[in-house]
Amino acid sequence: MSEVLLTLSPYIKVALPVPMRTLFDYKVPKAITLRHELKPGMRVKVPFGKSSRLGVIVALSDHSEWDPEQIKPLTSLHDKSPVISAELMALCEWAARYYHHPIGDVIFHALPILLRKGENAEFRTENWWFTTEKGQAISLEQLSRAPRQQDFLKAVQQHPNGLSQHAASVLDLAPSAAKILEEKGLLRKEPRSFNKGGERHAHVTQIPPTLNMEQMRATEHILDYRHQFHVALLDGVTGSGKTEVFLRVMARLIEEGKQILVMVPEIGLTPQTLKRFENRFNTDIVLMHSNMSDRERLDAWLLAASGHAKIIIGTRSAAFIPAPNLGLIVIDEEHDTSYKQHEGFRYHARDLAIKRAQALNIPVLLASATPSYESLTNALQKRFAWLKLRQRAGNAQIPKMERVDLRGKSLVHGFSEQALVNMKQCLERKEQVLVFLNRRGYAPTLMCHQCGWIAACDHCDVNLTVHKRANKLHCHHCDTQKALIHTCPECQSEELFTVGEGTEQIETQLSTLFKEVPILRIDRDSTQRKSAMAKLTQKIHEHDQAILIGTQMLAKGHHFPNVTLVIIMDADAGLFSSDFRGMERTAQLITQVAGRAGRAKKPGHVLLQTYHPDHAAIECLCNLGYEHFAIDGLAERKSLSLPPFYHQVIVRAESGNEQEAMQLLSAMRNDLEPFFAKEVYLVGPYTAIIVRKAGQHRALISIKAAQRGPLHQATQMMTEWLEQSTKQHRIRFAIDVDPLETY
Ligand code: ADP
Ligand code: ZN
Ligand code: ZN
Repeated sequence: MSEVLLTLSPYIKVALPVPMRTLFDYKVPKAITLRHELKPGMRVKVPFGKSSRLGVIVALSDHSEWDPEQIKPLTSLHDKSPVISAELMALCEWAARYYHHPIGDVIFHALPILLRKGENAEFRTENWWFTTEKGQAISLEQLSRAPRQQDFLKAVQQHPNGLSQHAASVLDLAPSAAKILEEKGLLRKEPRSFNKGGERHAHVTQIPPTLNMEQMRATEHILDYRHQFHVALLDGVTGSGKTEVFLRVMARLIEEGKQILVMVPEIGLTPQTLKRFENRFNTDIVLMHSNMSDRERLDAWLLAASGHAKIIIGTRSAAFIPAPNLGLIVIDEEHDTSYKQHEGFRYHARDLAIKRAQALNIPVLLASATPSYESLTNALQKRFAWLKLRQRAGNAQIPKMERVDLRGKSLVHGFSEQALVNMKQCLERKEQVLVFLNRRGYAPTLMCHQCGWIAACDHCDVNLTVHKRANKLHCHHCDTQKALIHTCPECQSEELFTVGEGTEQIETQLSTLFKEVPILRIDRDSTQRKSAMAKLTQKIHEHDQAILIGTQMLAKGHHFPNVTLVIIMDADAGLFSSDFRGMERTAQLITQVAGRAGRAKKPGHVLLQTYHPDHAAIECLCNLGYEHFAIDGLAERKSLSLPPFYHQVIVRAESGNEQEAMQLLSAMRNDLEPFFAKEVYLVGPYTAIIVRKAGQHRALISIKAAQRGPLHQATQMMTEWLEQSTKQHRIRFAIDVDPLETY
């Protein structure tokens, strides 16, 4: 019998977290075959080079292309059951092929960090204490000489369902006291596997509002398709009640015993989203985002993998969370670029989620007030159902958008007179103003009045941003920080001055103009600490009048019911971007920010400060709205053969040497171009707009084609060529399939 097993699969193919696009073969020692059943998705320890590594079995095999003598045996088996299910393994294999990324790196990316490091995939256990009969009956008086025992026993008596170790530490009770109480036969201890459910308080299950016609139609549509693969684009203006629609759909699927994955773009959003879900559902909800500790992430992963968690709310990496009864994937703010990973394994979580849903035969709901051009195209071409919500829910009105012509006007700290007058009136009505400027810090430039010197980063081709409060000069591209200087290093003059404005400066200046009003700044600098965003949001809700100043962080899904005026300081910021997606991004950002105005009963007003009030894009957006704007934009993309009509792949190379990256890509083009299908168009190599970043000189080459097939083949050839050619060089390359940044 053992002989049979052994000959069935004497080899395993293992994925290792190394930058090689291949699997590694190992022999399975007889001793292991006899005792364990090996399955794909289990972790194994294997020898690799001079050391050993943790890998994941991708396949069992009865043959190998390598010389059997050369193949090493695996060292040990790490799991009793797979940590990557068959479903997720297939997804990882698909992603590795589609994104031309090393399979080992993809599989390890799909695992929580602790599992990558070899932690057991098991719930941690913690102690729970219960009173014995004797412990329940005893009078606390009898322990008056041992106050710590008294406190502990009292707490356990008050918890008839047991007191967890976690709860005991929250209550600051002494574990040593518990030990003595156990010895006295007053308490009994029981180890239980960690289960978040035990600590949760019962939550309100609120009565949902009555849906309006549009919401009802959308909800019924999705429910009709809830047992099959179906992608619906829920395209609803800000505040139209999209969240309400997916809460309804979720309620039905949860009743049917399904798990639901809700993807959100930004961690700042999750506490708010979580609260809304907890108010609605009396079920287990877990979060998965980068602001959690490694252990918390593993706990969430285990709760999802065990089927325990019914709702999983997570950011990008949650696309890979195991969920055996997954019944629906919701992607909120589907246009958000944070769904695309911008380095390493450059996947798009939305696209991956759709692929996953297709394999599982379940629906996907994409929600946005400003759908991506990709999703709009899919909706126009009827691959996605297009569900529109064009009215605001409840009694809220769509805000009025007004352009403020800045030409020839005198400005006060960047504000037009009209903006200041409107702000004053808004604050007098005890309402809130939101000032939007997508530039953090005090000023983007520090300059010398005498010699014209400008503070620039030593490692990047960019200027350093002035952060006055932190007293620093900061590079927003490589994170280099220096102390703020007051003397010019070139001419020793002390006449240094700042050029331009960031959110920190606006905050300082508005506090002199509006002395009595609370001013709250929301950007990456003010929300660095873990609970900072939640605290700021709470403050916003506490005050009636207030000025909120923020970057794009403020644009994402927040609901501030008392904001009635939005001022967009610089509506022109994205108009002349060199990236073909610049216009799409600008329109999304402006529409989203504008959408923060008048979300409750009071009407909203939006002022766009611009030097180009007649620019076709600004005019179209103000008068006709995002959908119209996007459809015009798509026509232009089509006429220029740009994505989403053509598919694109970008190869990036970077090197410490000034010429090397360009030379490498030129050589690649010369070698490979004759072999590319004629449908494939090549552009480049060209240098990145910021050529040098973090000391690396960067070059790119772009290929595009109307069909995926020839593009995929060409990319495959490039990848192989680059892997060969970069072996000897200290030059890095990256393949970016469906890139969102093209420079
Ligand atoms: P969106 O997700 O489109 O921005 P939300 O679902 O957050 O919109 O809804 C905006 C506000 O309107 C929320 O406060 C929500 O509770 C409320 N709301 C949603 N649907 C209705 C409805 N049918 N009737 C009354 N209020 C509603
Ligand atoms: Zn100088
Ligand atoms: Zn830098």
